[in-house]
Amino acid sequence: MNIPISTSSSLSRRDVLRYAGLGGLGAMLFPMMGHSAAASAVPAGSTVSLRGYQPAYYRFNVGAIEALAVNDGGFAVPVEECPFGVGLPREEVSAVLDDRRIDPGVVQIPFNVLVLRIGGRLVMVDSGCGVHNGAAGGRLVQHLETAGIKASDISAVILTHAHGDHIGGLLAADFKTPVFPNAELYVNRVEYDFWTSEQADLSRMAAPESMRAGMAKGARAALLALDPRWQKVAPGDRILDGIELIPAYGHTPGHMAVLISSGKNQLLHMVDAAHHHAISLRQPDWVLAFDADPEMASRSRRMLFDRADADRLRVFGAHMPFPSLGAIRKSKDGYDYLMEPWSIA
Ligand SMILES: [Zn+2]
Repeated sequence: MNIPISTSSSLSRRDVLRYAGLGGLGAMLFPMMGHSAAASAVPAGSTVSLRGYQPAYYRFNVGAIEALAVNDGGFAVPVEECPFGVGLPREEVSAVLDDRRIDPGVVQIPFNVLVLRIGGRLVMVDSGCGVHNGAAGGRLVQHLETAGIKASDISAVILTHAHGDHIGGLLAADFKTPVFPNAELYVNRVEYDFWTSEQADLSRMAAPESMRAGMAKGARAALLALDPRWQKVAPGDRILDGIELIPAYGHTPGHMAVLISSGKNQLLHMVDAAHHHAISLRQPDWVLAFDADPEMASRSRRMLFDRADADRLRVFGAHMPFPSLGAIRKSKDGYDYLMEPWSIA
């Protein structure tokens, strides 16, 4: 079928159908051709801008569980300032990016939140940054609304760890008012106890002292602000059907991954065991400035990657490229992240 390109609206519906070859099929292929708006010519000098941020949510299923990946924002840093490979020449980071055909000068870290509909309840894994991380994050609630979900509809939030880009979204600007007023809040008891103690020990962390102090202060204040709503759990606890909490310690002392199961279908949410789809996978033992215990974090990272590879699991990550769905395969150079194709279903 060869439809001539028309620079004006002179191509009538009948012409289109004729070129399409079949009346019935043509009507299916060009259902809008009878409408005057669609039939009008593209304006020569459009003032519509293509600039602006990317609104993003993505629906998918894990067996019978409906799921939604929601982007909360993200940030990009020059490779010189990126948190990967602390102590190594920046050229080594650039080389990993370049090998993957990614701009070798910039590292992008998106923030993604997973929403699940389990037994009629809306369960969210983490809460994004809220208004507490500058312009980088805070789009979660707006994007939920775009997807038809109000903050008050959320029944439960599983907090995987108490870093600002995961806990910040729970609290409004006054640091008091809950953003998800009807949500049960789950946290690993180990995580809660670590940050709410007077002196969280971050001495193994490679980040500058000012960042460590800010992190400790923010996590403690946010956790305490939501007392007594926390339900303190341990990995292995069955908190909801289809949800298994997996210890993935090191990024923080109580950092958890989440395995979602429905029938034969599974999704492994690695959360912050990986912060970049190229760097974390190719160099799983590099020190990440955000890890409280880099060696333990590296072991947890490999444990999850190996499991994902061995069981051919579908994976999700808080900082993988949106919509954050993929798979992991062992390679001679470490691991490869295989992005899942966008689905129209
Ligand atoms: Zn994170």
